Amino acid sequence: MTVYAQPGQDGSLVTFKSRYENFIGGQWVPPVKGNYFENPSPVTGKTFTEVPASTAEDIELALDAAHKAAPVWGKTSVAERANILNKIADRLEENLEMVAVAETWDNGKAIREPLNADLPLAVDHFRYFAGAIRAQEGGLSQIDEDTVAYHFHEPLGVVGQIIPWNFPILMGVWKIAPALAAGNAIVLKPAEQTPASILVLVELIADLLPEGVLNVVNGFGLEAGKPLASNKRISKIAFTGETTTGRLIMQYASQNIIPVTLELGGKSPNIFFEDVLAKDDAYADKAQEGFTMFALNQGEVCTCPSRALIQESIADPFLEKVVARTQKIVQGNPLDTDTMMGAQASNDQFEKIMSYLDIGRQEGAEVLTGGGKAELDGDLAGGFYVQPTIFKGTNKMRIFQEEIFGPVVSVATFSDYADALATANDTLYGLGAGVWSRDGNTAYRAGREIQAGRVWVNNYHAYPAHAAFGGYKASGIGRENHKMMLDHYQQTKNLLVSYSENAQ
Ligand code: NAD
Repeated sequence: MTVYAQPGQDGSLVTFKSRYENFIGGQWVPPVKGNYFENPSPVTGKTFTEVPASTAEDIELALDAAHKAAPVWGKTSVAERANILNKIADRLEENLEMVAVAETWDNGKAIREPLNADLPLAVDHFRYFAGAIRAQEGGLSQIDEDTVAYHFHEPLGVVGQIIPWNFPILMGVWKIAPALAAGNAIVLKPAEQTPASILVLVELIADLLPEGVLNVVNGFGLEAGKPLASNKRISKIAFTGETTTGRLIMQYASQNIIPVTLELGGKSPNIFFEDVLAKDDAYADKAQEGFTMFALNQGEVCTCPSRALIQESIADPFLEKVVARTQKIVQGNPLDTDTMMGAQASNDQFEKIMSYLDIGRQEGAEVLTGGGKAELDGDLAGGFYVQPTIFKGTNKMRIFQEEIFGPVVSVATFSDYADALATANDTLYGLGAGVWSRDGNTAYRAGREIQAGRVWVNNYHAYPAHAAFGGYKASGIGRENHKMMLDHYQQTKNLLVSYSENAQ
């Protein structure tokens, strides 16, 4: 067990500045209008830094810097860009614990997660896209004996990126790494709830990138996000956040006819067929562990398996086991490596989850465990802690249809395969899903028939860089991860050349 010191106390690995500025053109630049907002840590509820409340003027400054950098950066060799991405990966890996403390302090998550998942995945993401861009090839088609069509990849130029607060660094890196690999310059706006850890990362890697290639402007959605997403000077907008905001982003982009990628909300089903309990073995254990994944990252995951569908014939024994397992989830100091669940990212999010706990009860759902605030002592008393909660109800209830984005799972039972699939697909969303069965045919068929971009079969919440990730239905457009992501950050130039000496 390791307990990391809190920022501001002796021995802390990270020292936050008391005030941050925007990162523009390789410099720390104060906001034009001079306004800042306070950023509390969800761990204690106390403010630890302030960051710019930027406006359109700051976005324009960042776009100036990005446009200055883009033509040069876009013409660097792929080897040069790959080397830089690899250096960023090395730098992050060398400072992993420090950045993990920053991420936990800013977001509230239990530190075992950034140490073992978010940040190793971020490191790997830079390395993967360093390799992917080196391996990318163009195309050549022979049109006739004398005519050839060449297909070249070109960067888009300057791209806008807007990220959420649940995985501030990983969601940032999912966007930054492929965009840089493809040769674009970036203006990125972090979420206002978690503006600081990404700046710690930027500070760490600033000297590795040419000035203006990566610019970070903090602020609120309407004041800073909208001027970026609706700007005529970006060639693409990549967004991760709520579906309602995603609709606005599409409207802004439509005015400028630019491509959009959207990673939005989810209400992912996690289906347990009766054979999971056929034996009391390692597989049954793994499936039960898969159920408890709803509490990973305090449930603040777009793919949170927030609807568990359990075959009627095993519902009672399965629920008995997973309720017991859920009650063993250790809540406490997020900076303690033994802690399994930390704080919700903000007071607003905490209040939203509390309201859904009331809604679930009012709808007549049964609380099998949890159902309220988690009371912690000392410094942590002011933080935003919720008990992992299991509701039992039916799929038409709001707690089954609306994204709660907290450690809350709503359980329903099903009679047979057809019932399971109909219930799984009865949702607006189509981001993630889980299927648990020892029977290969059942698992395969269900995996193919669930309308979701990512279906985990006999596992859950794995995010390798080389597996495509993205949503069906209202969960989004486009994909992140995998080398196919490069297509979202490149244009195709076709050169149709005649080598004939005869007139056409
Ligand atoms: P949000 O939409 O409120 O905010 C996301 C970002 O958009 C923030 O940076 C915010 O400042 C900005 N924003 C808000 N209004 C804007 C506007 N009008 N114009 C431009 N920018 C604006 O979402 P959130 O609450 O921060 O994030 C949680 C949501 O993100 C959940 O719905 C979750 O499912 C989703 N999410 C999806 C994925 C995925 O990959 N699909 C990953 C993580 C989170």
